[in-house]
Amino acid sequence: MEKTIIINPATDEKVAEYDRITVETAISKIETSNKAYQTWKHKSLEERATLMHKLADVLDENKEEYAQLATTEMGKTIGQSRKEIEKCAWICRYYADNTKDLLANQTVATEASKSYVTFQPIGVVLAVMPWNFPFYQVIRFAAPALMAGNTGVLKHASNVQGCAFALEDAFNKAGFPEGAFTNLNLSAKHVKDVIEDKNIVAVTLTGSDPAGRSVASIAGQNLKKTVMELGGSDAYVILEDADIEKATDLATLGRLQNNGQTCIAAKRFVVLEDIYDAFLESYTKKMKAAKMGEPTDEDAYYGPMARKDLRDELHEQVQKTIKQGGKLVLGGVIPDRKGAYYPATILADLKPGMEGFDNELFGPVASVIKAKDEAEAIALANNSQFGLGSGVITSNKERGEKVALQLEAGSSFVNKLVASDPRLPFGGIKNSGYGRELSGYGIKEFVNTKSIWID
Ligand code: NDP
Repeated sequence: MEKTIIINPATDEKVAEYDRITVETAISKIETSNKAYQTWKHKSLEERATLMHKLADVLDENKEEYAQLATTEMGKTIGQSRKEIEKCAWICRYYADNTKDLLANQTVATEASKSYVTFQPIGVVLAVMPWNFPFYQVIRFAAPALMAGNTGVLKHASNVQGCAFALEDAFNKAGFPEGAFTNLNLSAKHVKDVIEDKNIVAVTLTGSDPAGRSVASIAGQNLKKTVMELGGSDAYVILEDADIEKATDLATLGRLQNNGQTCIAAKRFVVLEDIYDAFLESYTKKMKAAKMGEPTDEDAYYGPMARKDLRDELHEQVQKTIKQGGKLVLGGVIPDRKGAYYPATILADLKPGMEGFDNELFGPVASVIKAKDEAEAIALANNSQFGLGSGVITSNKERGEKVALQLEAGSSFVNKLVASDPRLPFGGIKNSGYGRELSGYGIKEFVNTKSIWID
């Protein structure tokens, strides 16, 4: 039987192995999920909300265990793993408390005696999820999808199968009916068979561009709706009136949190030339001072990357950028130690056409870009195949807002790092994907928006 082997990226040691399921077993579990859907869709919002609140409690009660699991499987520092579980509980409570309003019928004035729009569940939704936030990415899909009356099946990243089973267990502990949320420990090569199954009605994927293209095209062939949350290369425009200390504090946290592996991480810093040298000097000091350490070390600022192959790919991208004329200011050397570690790295003077400018660097490597003025900075920020998040750092909020409105991305934050929030929609444009998660926009992705007309 095929196995999923889990390697701790901090130590290179095998920590667990799980049996993969066959396509036939997956199809049978999806059948069970569809049976659960037939009952679950008729439950009242109050009944669903009670269970969603219980799930939030289960997450809180088991926070330490789940956080340790995430840290062991993908190397996130333990403090950030705990925060991830807390955020999951917040999302569950948000949807438990707000779905009634978010999915309330909308009356529309027509010639009918009564006409309105209602939002009904659609069935079993497949989620293909990544390892970088192994609990949060799943809850971000599952909490709204289940509150809307759907059921969910999960194909999680292979390297975080312990987290996937822990999530399934959490739903069971909270009292959700069997089949409401199911983990499918399936190989990626079998996702096609699952998408084609008659009981799957829609697919959501968070992950890389190639995985997204493959899943979206198979779903398209089968006329099944998709939401795609793919990569990003978020640009932050640092205007000449920015507080440099604040800008470099944000840039350090933005590039190193989650060991640099966040789709909405600050990746490209477009700095106006008046403050370029001062920014680079302060930024280099702070990135150098950030402690790389064991992810279980409470003082570590960042830990290893999730897998060695991902670390090696990142290193190749750094090498390529340097060959193309990018300036290595800090880091760029694989440390001589066990684990998938990569040091905080700064590449400066980057220009379009260079790897570090054009493509996503999914690790602790910052791209710094010089712009002569605000207009050029906006053009450079928008010169990207991606459009997930973006930011502006300035001491003038009005000016910041004007720039934010011109950035081509699903979100633009002024003087703050882009962060997801259940109250706001989350998603991208261009190659960062399509569709939205979270908020009322997210919950409406997997519903039948149905018109009712009473003549
Ligand atoms: P992938 O996109 O390969 O993995 C994400 C999920 O998709 C996993 O569950 C994976 O399964 C599955 N998957 C992969 N290929 C296919 C496929 N052809 N059909 C169906 N499912 C598939 O990410 P990686 O782990 O390889 O990371 C590579 C890059 O992806 C990163 O460097 C980063 O650029 C990007 N990424 C972006 C994320 C984001 O938040 N937007 C999150 C993670 C990665 P399995 O693990 O079994 O291969």
